[in-house]
Amino acid sequence: MVKIWNVPVQELDDQHLLGEHFELHVIWNALVGGRAGWRRHPETQRWQGRLAALYARHQAQVREMQARGWHGHRSELDLSATANSSAEWPEVDAATLAAERERLRQYRAGRPGRGAAARSTDQTRPGA
Ligand SMILES: [Zn+2]
Repeated sequence: MVKIWNVPVQELDDQHLLGEHFELHVIWNALVGGRAGWRRHPETQRWQGRLAALYARHQAQVREMQARGWHGHRSELDLSATANSSAEWPEVDAATLAAERERLRQYRAGRPGRGAAARSTDQTRPGA
């Protein structure tokens, strides 16, 4: 599943932060590189025309990964691709946000001691 969460990156646990970073690159590559497989995916479509917003999310992810001690990020995005795109986050309603927070809460509740296994710099690299 490819998904960009709507909550701030600081609210994501380690696994979801790393997962979202990987998936953001999948979406970016679909929109910028035109990789057919993901082009029609609803989450990709949600970011159509909003590369500047997606770029900003990626930079927030990178800052958050660094704040958590991962310094292996090597997958910079091409800023020039954001020209003439919107920096505005796609519209999201309060119910969706609440549902996301609940999903993340349940995930954390089911995984005590989360995070330790995720602290590998390799996981910040989306196989690009
Ligand atoms: Zn990256």
